Amino acid sequence: MSSLIDALAPGAAGTMTLDEFARWTVAVLAPHGFEPGNALALIGVCRDELMFGIESAVSAQWGAAFDISSLAGMVFLGASGMAAAAHHAPGLDGRRRYVIVVMPHIGVAVDGSVGFVLRDGQHHESTACGALVGLQQELATGSRRDEIDHDDLEMSLLRRDVVADVGSGEAPDLVTLTDLVRRLASEEMARLADGLVRDADADVAMFSGVVVHHHDEDRVHVVDAWVALRDDAVRRVLSR
Ligand SMILES: [Zn+2]
Repeated sequence: MSSLIDALAPGAAGTMTLDEFARWTVAVLAPHGFEPGNALALIGVCRDELMFGIESAVSAQWGAAFDISSLAGMVFLGASGMAAAAHHAPGLDGRRRYVIVVMPHIGVAVDGSVGFVLRDGQHHESTACGALVGLQQELATGSRRDEIDHDDLEMSLLRRDVVADVGSGEAPDLVTLTDLVRRLASEEMARLADGLVRDADADVAMFSGVVVHHHDEDRVHVVDAWVALRDDAVRRVLSR
């Protein structure tokens, strides 16, 4: 699959509209026994209202989703949150199925500036993802704070996890940081989902990517997609 930097171009090859992505998740999972009505979607995206579009597109296909979202698209629901989701999936045919979507986001302005987007009803572009633009600027200044701030809980958890991964080396640019957060969020979700496959006899599908906001449309760049069935718990790659 192409890199995120390539996926930032308008209409970039390999990217999908939100509806195309949502319909593809249904089509690619059908051979594995998933269908709308027998699976619960778990959506982890940034809290930004710009992400309502992807949440709506996925819910239009799979039904109301369990929300695992945190700032920037990080996954902080932990074992208790996961335990709640584990009891919500349909299971009439004796199998519980989960469709997990983990998607941070990034804006591309009309002039091609990365990290900015023009929102409806505004005259000037604003940052997207605002949390990651802020964190990238912080890291670029050499800051490496990792304490938990109870007045800024999600941001400090995001910062702590990123700092632990980046270390004291070079500060990532925004595109690299966005993909790093996608990977961290997906790894955490996969870790929690492993418990579902092992302990709750579940079939789990994962779609890990980035939503790219252009001024006229959103597109999905899928980086990693797989399904793990309880029978073998091997990750089978889902490709287009
Ligand atoms: Zn955001």
